[in-house]
Amino acid sequence: MRANGEPAVLVVEDESALSTLLRYNLEREGYRLELAGSAVEARAVLARTLPDLILMDIQLPGMDGLTFTSELKADPVSAGVPVVALTALAMAGDRERALAAGCIGYISKPINTRTFADEVRGYLLAKA
Ligand code: MN
Repeated sequence: MRANGEPAVLVVEDESALSTLLRYNLEREGYRLELAGSAVEARAVLARTLPDLILMDIQLPGMDGLTFTSELKADPVSAGVPVVALTALAMAGDRERALAAGCIGYISKPINTRTFADEVRGYLLAKA
């Protein structure tokens, strides 16, 4: 929720170096960040606050990101939170599968730090 007018973004990503990079790039834009390394950790975050946007890695330990997205979309509490997949370019078909799972779009890994914040802002505005 936008407590202070600053968009809240939940990053579900198990590569901590990437999570740190995303946090740096988005906090610099004024966003509030929550980080989770798995679906289990993300559920704990979502139990106390609903973000404005979720950035979802597909390959996660335990439940994969697309199965988790489908779960979130099936739950009335979280169904309205837009999810954007973080997809590796090398994984053919991931983008189509992401959209089928209920993601509103995808951002390619490796992350382009020059365009990433704008991509995220675009997804936030698209859903606003
Ligand atoms: Mn991963």
